Amino acid sequence: MPFDLIEPETVDEALAVLSEGDETTRPISGGSGLALMMKYGFFQPTKLVSLRRIARDLSAIRALPDGGLQIGATATLRDVEDSPDVETQAPMLHESLKRLATIRLRNVAQIGGAIAHGAPQMDLPPVLLALNAQVQARSRRGERWIPAENVFLGYYHTAIEPDELVTQARIPQLGDHRGTYRKVTARSVDDWPLLGIAVLAQFEGGSIKTVTAAVGAISDHAQLLPTVEASLTGSEPSARDIRSVAEDAADTLDYKEGGMASPAYQRRLVATNLRLALESVIGDIERQE
Ligand SMILES: Cc1cc2nc3c(=O)[nH]c(=O)nc-3n(C[C@H](O)[C@H](O)[C@H](O)COP(=O)(O)OP(=O)(O)OC[C@H]3O[C@@H](n4cnc5c(N)ncnc54)[C@H](O)[C@@H]3O)c2cc1C
Repeated sequence: MPFDLIEPETVDEALAVLSEGDETTRPISGGSGLALMMKYGFFQPTKLVSLRRIARDLSAIRALPDGGLQIGATATLRDVEDSPDVETQAPMLHESLKRLATIRLRNVAQIGGAIAHGAPQMDLPPVLLALNAQVQARSRRGERWIPAENVFLGYYHTAIEPDELVTQARIPQLGDHRGTYRKVTARSVDDWPLLGIAVLAQFEGGSIKTVTAAVGAISDHAQLLPTVEASLTGSEPSARDIRSVAEDAADTLDYKEGGMASPAYQRRLVATNLRLALESVIGDIERQE
């Protein structure tokens, strides 16, 4: 089916087209997700709003004076992976990107698309949740900041409204921290995740200040594991405590039949990988067993 390809020269022009009220008008950035949905007939656009000509205005990746990190929406995943600022300030994001599909995909897909796509089996949503990222969305109605925990809502469903463009993501200053992303794949290493677990621990004076954990690919959207934070913040956990926190957190999730792994196997994957992730970030806290 034919559709119109609009190539705005400015962000305002793009927002004007998106504000026309037609829900089958969509922005297209790298096209890696959208093209597949169109090819298989899941989505038929009337208009695609290409971000190609405005990409240069929205692609900056930089360390901010407040110690945070800004990542422009049209930066490719490869740009983000290669950024020295990202590698220094948010090494967990850098590491997670190295395992996201292939270099070919990362050269094309953009951060804005990776946020707005909303597919359940994606790598970045749990990472952005654990990093406590904020997402900026702009429309003709104005500009708003959305905490990552309120962005990923359901199956291909995000908080980004049809008239909005994701314009950037920000990661706050992390201070003394350690983070890890564990990805389990069913077929090849560059496959979509069967499970993604991101854990970030922040320290103060050598003690655990907070521990944030998030899981992706288990349900229809990535989610935080609040019991991990509640149990470990300000604590000095033993190896046994870590194991029990991981088991308890795995029990809070709702596992579905019908995927590539049974509910019991998915639960075991979560408990084991969460324990390993926690051990790797807070493992040198003195064990009391
Ligand atoms: C072969 C293959 C393998 C993959 N493997 C993985 C994997 O292992 N892990 C993983 O996480 N992902 C994987 N993906 C998914 C990939 O990460 C997404 O397709 C990609 O991130 C989407 O980015 P894009 O720039 O191509 O978005 P597009 O395809 O252009 O757009 C995707 C969606 O986001 C919207 N959109 C795009 N940009 C914006 C914006 N700035 N503001 C608002 N809305 C916007 C579009 O309208 C569309 O709804 C894979 C995809 C393919 C094709």
